Amino acid sequence: MDYLAGLNPSQRAAVEQTEGPVMIVAGAGSGKTRVITFRVAHLIRKGVDPFHILVLTFTNKAAKEMRERIMSVVGQEAKNIWMGTFHSVFARILRVEAELIGYPRNFTIYDTDDTKSLIRAILKEMNLDDKLYNANHVYGRISSAKNNLISPQEYNKNEAIMAEDIANGRPQMGQIYMTYAQRCYRAGAMDFDDLLFKTNVLLNKYPEVLHKYQHQFKYLMVDEYQDTNFSQYLIVKRLAAVNENICVVGDDAQSIYAFRGANIQNILNFQKDYPDVQIFKLEQNYRSTKMIVNAANSVIEKNQNQLEKNVFSENEDGEKIKVARAFSDNEEGKIVAEAITQERALKNLRYKDFAILYRTNAQSRAMEEALRKINVPYKLYGGTSFYQRKEIKDLIAYFRLTFNPNDEEALKRVINYPRRGIGDTTVEKILVAADQQQYRLWDVVVNAHTFLDGRSANAVGNFGLMIQSFQAVAKTNSAFDTAMHIAQHSGILKDLYEDKSVEGLSRYENIQELLNGIKEFSEREDIEEKGLDVFMQDIALLTNDDNDKDPNADTVSMMTIHASKGLEFPVVFIVGLEENLFPSQLSLNSRSELEEERRLFYVAVTRAEKKLHLSYATSRYRWGTLNNCEPSRFLDELNPACLELDFKQRPATLETTGGFQSERMAWKQKDTESYSKPKPKMVKTTSILPKAHVPTPGFAPSDTSALQVGMEVEHERFGFGKVVNLEGNRPDIKATIFFKELGQKQLLLKFAKLRIV
Ligand code: ATP
Ligand code: MG
Repeated sequence: MDYLAGLNPSQRAAVEQTEGPVMIVAGAGSGKTRVITFRVAHLIRKGVDPFHILVLTFTNKAAKEMRERIMSVVGQEAKNIWMGTFHSVFARILRVEAELIGYPRNFTIYDTDDTKSLIRAILKEMNLDDKLYNANHVYGRISSAKNNLISPQEYNKNEAIMAEDIANGRPQMGQIYMTYAQRCYRAGAMDFDDLLFKTNVLLNKYPEVLHKYQHQFKYLMVDEYQDTNFSQYLIVKRLAAVNENICVVGDDAQSIYAFRGANIQNILNFQKDYPDVQIFKLEQNYRSTKMIVNAANSVIEKNQNQLEKNVFSENEDGEKIKVARAFSDNEEGKIVAEAITQERALKNLRYKDFAILYRTNAQSRAMEEALRKINVPYKLYGGTSFYQRKEIKDLIAYFRLTFNPNDEEALKRVINYPRRGIGDTTVEKILVAADQQQYRLWDVVVNAHTFLDGRSANAVGNFGLMIQSFQAVAKTNSAFDTAMHIAQHSGILKDLYEDKSVEGLSRYENIQELLNGIKEFSEREDIEEKGLDVFMQDIALLTNDDNDKDPNADTVSMMTIHASKGLEFPVVFIVGLEENLFPSQLSLNSRSELEEERRLFYVAVTRAEKKLHLSYATSRYRWGTLNNCEPSRFLDELNPACLELDFKQRPATLETTGGFQSERMAWKQKDTESYSKPKPKMVKTTSILPKAHVPTPGFAPSDTSALQVGMEVEHERFGFGKVVNLEGNRPDIKATIFFKELGQKQLLLKFAKLRIV
């Protein structure tokens, strides 16, 4: 059978052009990813060794799917292809080469939490106001410097950058970056951006290493090239410099990561970098109905900056796009949930044919509740990863210390958990000693008596001995036996076992789940190296979505639009189409940001194969207050001929007056003032006391018997909050509620003055 038969002539030409630089810039659903997949299969069929092929994808999931498809054409050989995200591929290379640039082979990868915790510690040490130097902001600044390959030294020498920081009232930024980099180095740790930054350093500084990988990767392919940042761009460019067998595919209209430093220019400049590039255009969309393609085109043409493309579909015309209006986010959830049930029955679909896409993660709550109410199974993508749970991170911190005892964040996390009498002051003394005398953290721990007095020196010394004993166990035991030993001897298992609360029990189960995972890993036959250190490398870059236990489960998918890139579903719901939400309030200041939001909308629309549903609410709770919402401008931008307004739930004004324009007008008149005023910016409050709560007018405690974990409530005095746990039996049910202003509180339901919102 001709394995290239499933390609149209332009796709086939792109697949067969295996030598030299190739660029495919094409619209959504035109088969770009399919071309890469077939191209790899084709190369292997032609006799290219899979070890010589490097494919860079945007998610681990995409890599996995691609590998499976290639395997169906070329068999087991597909296992040897170098394929994965930029981060995972270059982390793997750095594991081999790290020592050259002064890192241990077992370097730790700091996740976002570690990074922010370290930044906070530095801010504290430098006595800086953490409102002005907000940790997220500092992280963003450091990240963007790294992604533009600006080292701390260069940052501090760059007058333009320094002037910008001074103008923003944050003159210490350069010093923070410098300290942050030193501390990561001292801890033998790299953050996510370092994986790319240090790869660049490595390839730049060591020509022989560069040479090795240039010859290793004879063929390079990059999917979603429009979303690469400068650091990624340069790695690819360096690696491809000798053979120039590089194929990039992308769509400028789907560039949605500029906020993280992605540079659409990379795709536009490809031609300059490789003057003899062969360019292929794919214009036929195979994914979606004509209706959906037309609607998508009608939106994206409103952007001024775009490469001209003519995307068409020869699929069926398809149904019109349904637009629903709800009066609240909860009602919107209900409309979506009911539409899913109906359409599934009517068209004989499965739950997994449906996806709900939203602009921000917070919107998932109303959707989840509505789906749960009528028993629609769903899977939330991009939620908290299993590996981000506290108990899992605690145990992993012990693993991390075992392999890299200088790991500062891991040390801080568990040196006194479970409790062993090492207070914060002692930890601080250790850090200061390391800092002032330029010692490695671990040297201070094992020489505790030199730096600390009596009792704390003993406690710290014993902790050091324990970690050393773990290191000895790890040397001679399997991953599972080592992990089990550490779980027991660190005291974590016992601590969780003794906690008999509902959460305690589930934490204990999670630890067991982790140990089960390690057991499975220990017993795998397809890999040679099965130590706990290798397992740790595997999980460091996993996200929730990769930890998909059962990818074939029949569940509705829920995710942000960012996470939906590259995916497709028969029926798609895009919810929350309201001004200030989508487009986001933060994007309304400049054309380029608004255009990025529009591209995001284009990505969302083009995920749908057969049917698209859009919805908005006319009021929504945000930050604890009820706001009126105006329908999104994107609704107006869609070709009206593609839309079917479904406002039957409420008396409609739109049908008679025509278009969202009129609803926007009506809204405008209703609230001219707030509409014409510039959008309010978030105001920082300096008061540390929570504001007194003014109950919603007409507040009356409601029947709380239907209360469930996850629900939002209002308390007469404590304000708005979310139920995080319920325990005990009626009538003595105790609710743990996280209040926005006050934090967590436990209340006995029978006395609590609560209202479900
Ligand atoms: P995106 O821009 O969203 O990443 P893409 O350009 O990568 O989209 P693919 O995901 O490769 O597009 O293809 C979209 C859909 O069309 C897939 O289901 C794919 O299998 C199908 N498809 C692509 N080309 C063909 C073809 N020649 N014949 C049949 N189906 C095709
Ligand atoms: Mg794709």
